[in-house]
Amino acid sequence: MKLIKIPFIIAFALAASAIGASYLFSLRSEAQPTEYLWYDSLQGLHELCRAKYRQSHLYTEYARHAEQDSLHQQAALLRALAYADNVQCANCRKAIESLGGRFHSPVVQHYTMVNTRTHLHHALQAKSDLHEGITEECLHRAIEENNRYIARLITWCDASDIAQIVILRREIATLDQQQAEQAPYTVCPTCGAISNELLHTSYCPHCMTEREKFLTFE
Ligand SMILES: [Zn+2]
Repeated sequence: MKLIKIPFIIAFALAASAIGASYLFSLRSEAQPTEYLWYDSLQGLHELCRAKYRQSHLYTEYARHAEQDSLHQQAALLRALAYADNVQCANCRKAIESLGGRFHSPVVQHYTMVNTRTHLHHALQAKSDLHEGITEECLHRAIEENNRYIARLITWCDASDIAQIVILRREIATLDQQQAEQAPYTVCPTCGAISNELLHTSYCPHCMTEREKFLTFE
């Protein structure tokens, strides 16, 4: 009788070990990207987040260079751009992680500095490329997947980028002129909206953050 039971005990032990091993393995291995519910939206958001990450670092370098050349107003603008992109990168990253994805920071290259005029032109080109390229694609994907959370974040990014394009164009056009006294640059810490208008609302028009919480760059 005992001899008959032994193969059953061995088979049972082997099966239990296999189940245990597969359970432990499943805990260690990450979910495949294609298993994410919002796969397309997350892919787009990830791409946008990486672009914001790179731009934020680049504008910080540009700002440092402008400050060394005593171009204080341009340095303030570049610091404001860097901060706005950093806020948006953090928002995108939080959204990616809360929806089951994982953000991988890109390697930040060493940038060769030229001069502030060229840097402002590069910043304008990068913003225009982002607005017409990745951002629009990402927004369409999020709307197609009915992911209003991601769509709202991308709309915030785009609104800030459009304001940045307008400010950069104006800055480049008046670079050689005597600068009139102008309002400082302000950036909303929640959505990254940027402005230097003399007239403004008491709350951010995109996310309703109180104006007192805005960061000022001057
Ligand atoms: Zn805001």
